Amino acid sequence: MLGAILFFIGLTLRLFIYWRGQWDFWALVRGVLSTLFSQKIWELIKITVLDGILQRRLFGQDKLRWLMKVLIMIGYPGILIAGHLKVEMMSQFAGFPHLIRFFYAPFCDFYYFRDVTASSLSISDALFAISFDLFGAMILMGELIAIYRRFVAKMVTFETSSGDILAVNLLGGWFILRFFCEATSILTYSLPTSVAQYWFVSFGLSKIIAPLGLPWSSLNYPLWSLSGLFLAALVAFIPYNKKLWHIITIPVVMFINLMPKEAFAPGSRKVSLPLSVKGLIALDSCVKCGSCVDICPLYTQTKQLEITMGGFFTNLRSFIRKAYGLPGFFLGPGKNKEILKEYSEHPYLCTLCGRCGTVCPAFIDTKDLRIATREFMVEEGEYPPLMNRLAETLEKVHNIVGDPPEDRPMWVQALSRVPEHMFQKEKAKVVYFVGCVASYFPMTKRIPQSFVQILDKAGVDFTILGGEEWCCGFPMIAAGMKKRAEVMLQHNLEKVKEKGAEGIVFACPSCYHTWKERFKTEIEIFHSTQFIKKLIDEGKISFKGKTTKVTYHDPCDLGRASGVYEAPRQILQAIPGVELVELERNREECRCCGGGGDLEMVRPDLSAALAETKIEEIKATGADMVISACQQCIRTILTTARKKKIPIVAMDITEFVLKNMVG
Ligand code: SF4
Ligand code: SF4
Repeated sequence: MLGAILFFIGLTLRLFIYWRGQWDFWALVRGVLSTLFSQKIWELIKITVLDGILQRRLFGQDKLRWLMKVLIMIGYPGILIAGHLKVEMMSQFAGFPHLIRFFYAPFCDFYYFRDVTASSLSISDALFAISFDLFGAMILMGELIAIYRRFVAKMVTFETSSGDILAVNLLGGWFILRFFCEATSILTYSLPTSVAQYWFVSFGLSKIIAPLGLPWSSLNYPLWSLSGLFLAALVAFIPYNKKLWHIITIPVVMFINLMPKEAFAPGSRKVSLPLSVKGLIALDSCVKCGSCVDICPLYTQTKQLEITMGGFFTNLRSFIRKAYGLPGFFLGPGKNKEILKEYSEHPYLCTLCGRCGTVCPAFIDTKDLRIATREFMVEEGEYPPLMNRLAETLEKVHNIVGDPPEDRPMWVQALSRVPEHMFQKEKAKVVYFVGCVASYFPMTKRIPQSFVQILDKAGVDFTILGGEEWCCGFPMIAAGMKKRAEVMLQHNLEKVKEKGAEGIVFACPSCYHTWKERFKTEIEIFHSTQFIKKLIDEGKISFKGKTTKVTYHDPCDLGRASGVYEAPRQILQAIPGVELVELERNREECRCCGGGGDLEMVRPDLSAALAETKIEEIKATGADMVISACQQCIRTILTTARKKKIPIVAMDITEFVLKNMVG
């Protein structure tokens, strides 16, 4: 009972912080109901089994850690369910209220052993006995592996806190004690082998300790009491330790990841903590497991743990607890604000490549949370001042480079054959949204120049928005200034609607992803690779052959963020003579080029270092050229290659398609 009281106090402290965050009661209720009563429930069941229980994500990463997790993930629910089922069936508890039975469930064997008189067990009792010891042994093995990894092999990246040591000891200690309790009960009540053998671990243990000749009956009750104390301490400690608390938050995170974004709209409540309740729960789910460290391109360059997701989340969580928990509520943030200033740049030392999100065993949408934490830092006023300059430029001239808006379609003038309307029609079936980088950077103007020719040759009724096109808003969203990006998003949507378009196509994955995420509209949204693939399938594009060996770089916002991996590969494979060799890390594992997440603005040196690593990986394939499907990737790779004088051919897929097209 004491454990339960301490648990509820800790739970209240946690919920207090969530309560101070952004949420809207009815939006949340609608979100929960619309998820529960939709097809998403099957997705939830699938990920619960494959990712939650069978730990699919860990299997490819670290087999020992996978085994540890699977043993614990099966053992704990197994023993809890078996214990509760058995208590419900035991005659000793008939008539007891459910709450009492709930608390006695972990000790059901104590009561069972005390009263058993039979010389054999019923099938159900035998199955319960076997399952208790089987699940218990699984948990114990899992805990032993955890201890080995952390303390013997030192396979963990982050330091182990004293709280984590206590948590591991309580988890493992309770099961060791439990087996001793069962063994002493077997000896105390002289259970016949025909009965005791089903508790196969405890029975074996009883055989080992029996020769010690200790007063088992005197030890039995104190041992079960000690086991009760361990369990109470374990329960009480859950809300106070991240490793234990994430047992509760992980299923919640799995569920809220499936909920619609609108469910986490801030609502009209006056909010003091500028982070959504989704972000706060996700932040609490990080157990500093270290999976996101070695795969992070920024970490491989800087070796700074505090800029990885695990490191940064830990610092931020600690700040939020102090500044927005009960002490902060009564005393204000005080000196904690200065601590926040110290790591104001950290959230921006990230390309938002999303690679960490693919390996995170806590199912944290790391990219989403990183952007949310940037919004938090902006609200707190602790962020790189350069972000203000970016926002001001975008608000003034609606493009990231600061050039006049009317210069946006200047790339058209370099084309040899241009229709009278200069690709700007009053009405068209399809709008080609060009994007800032391809419109303004000389290095990437070949992308729109190629794409309009492809569309023209394929007979597509399309238009561009010209000077009426504004930045898609992604650079501002990535900077943590989502609210300020809203005007640009709405402007673009209106302009596309004015054209009466049925579809919109983007050659830039970030623009494409922003529209996909943001707009539920009748207008069909395509990336250029999807659109070209459609044109090939419709027979509107055909190719001449030329022997070329190419490799393909998956842009982060097209691959990991939007799940488009196959369309570009299918296009390349449709061109006769093209041999596609994959990069060492491709598709979901593709290494970022360094061009995303506004990193180039904050730390151009790091962005260039990432591009250099990418170029080395491309070179290692022996391909004649690298093809990508993103203007920013092409610009980042080529800029670094030129600076470092590395000979490399990098081409957007639109250019490559045009070069190989018939006609
Ligand atoms: S963010 Fe995920 S992968 Fe990274 S340390 Fe936290 S739990 Fe582990
Ligand atoms: S999104 Fe990419 S760069 Fe950012 S922390 Fe994750 S792996 Fe590192």
